[in-house]
Amino acid sequence: MFTSDKIQLRKEFLTACSLDTQAIHEPILDTNLVQGRLNPAGLGNAIKFSGIPGGQSVVVFDKIEDYKKASKNGRSPYSGAEYGVVQTPEAARVCAQFAQLHGGNGAVILPSGLSAIKTVLDTFLKVPNGRQPAILIPDNRYSPTERALNEMKKFMPGLYIGRYPGNATGAEVDALIRSAKQDNGGIDLLYLEAPGSQTFEIPELHEIVKVAQSHGIRIAMDNTWATHARFKPLIHGIDVAIQATTKYEGGYGDTPSGVVIARTVDDFEALAWTVRVSGTGAVSPETCNRLFGRVASTTERMDHHYKSAKKIIEWMKRQDFTSQVLCPYIPSSPDHVRFKDVFNKGNGLFSLVFRDDIPKQQIGQFLDSLNLFRIGESWGAHVSLVLPAKPERSLSQLPAGKMVRFSVGLEDPDDLIRDLNEAAPQLGLY
Ligand SMILES: *Cc1c(COP(=O)(O)O)cnc(C)c1O
Repeated sequence: MFTSDKIQLRKEFLTACSLDTQAIHEPILDTNLVQGRLNPAGLGNAIKFSGIPGGQSVVVFDKIEDYKKASKNGRSPYSGAEYGVVQTPEAARVCAQFAQLHGGNGAVILPSGLSAIKTVLDTFLKVPNGRQPAILIPDNRYSPTERALNEMKKFMPGLYIGRYPGNATGAEVDALIRSAKQDNGGIDLLYLEAPGSQTFEIPELHEIVKVAQSHGIRIAMDNTWATHARFKPLIHGIDVAIQATTKYEGGYGDTPSGVVIARTVDDFEALAWTVRVSGTGAVSPETCNRLFGRVASTTERMDHHYKSAKKIIEWMKRQDFTSQVLCPYIPSSPDHVRFKDVFNKGNGLFSLVFRDDIPKQQIGQFLDSLNLFRIGESWGAHVSLVLPAKPERSLSQLPAGKMVRFSVGLEDPDDLIRDLNEAAPQLGLY
């Protein structure tokens, strides 16, 4: 199909959509024209949460003594660093906002969620006594996290990477820590990510935290799925929270950044030092300001995504092509009790497992013929997205059948259901 046909199809589809949906999709009808970017001028009603001021990297001082002091500790007397490439006043402002929201003692901002994760690994997988560092990670982690660790291991051959299943109990993690103690001398960092990427399993989070604490192990959590709106890790005894803030906090896929929030001053200082010496913390003031302005609406937007997703899941579960919907907030999820206990409310994310007898090609045609759901990585933005998911798991069992991850945007859910319904015949079942 030529792109121009797709524009025409999309246009026709939109004429019967609600004004909300039209306002979101009309400016991005032509994917090539907007260069695949979903956040140009027109945002429709979604614009009420947007807004953009600016910033400066040079920081000036009236007295040389002030400058010397600032240069020594890397902090200006106003806000941010003495030279504002990293930790600009705009960065400092949004970091203070995140620290306060999460009940932490400080935060750093990085140019992506992955760089936030890498900063945590670089900071806390250093063991000064010469023993090789050790980490425990869940097998349903965001896969680039594991890729980063495997890369670190190439230069740090003794690095111990232990894995636990995404739905582990506290007792399972305890046993792994005990055996790592015998083999390696201990675990330095217990890493959590819940619900896990693509398949959304939830471990016994509170029990695992207790276990790690009892062994004196530092705990970090990738809390991107939940944001502060659904779970505040530091308040529950987790030492370090990681947020990929281009997802729900930014909300429009236009705030590429990641934030790390520390519970203790010492951990914050250690993270800030990694950022300073590596120079990896340069996030544009525009991004920082944009993120700052969006944070307050996170809960309102997530509630909207959640409500729409629930409606779409209800519809999906009744369809012939559906084998299973993977989503912790639906009552049939094996992790539903844990979900209620930890997060309580959901977001716009879930994965659909197709019936095992539907071939890959039909699923591809189904995805190609969607008008509102766009094919793209990432999630949490105003525009609904789909992406085939191919999770790799070292321990957990995966369901049979091809999997597609959905991120439900801010369009009218009835329009989204009509989009799915019109594409469904491509699956070849009727
Ligand atoms: C997207 C994502 C990240 C990485 O964020 P980027 O900004 O894309 O690097 C990390 N963790 C989770 C759970 C994510 O979904």
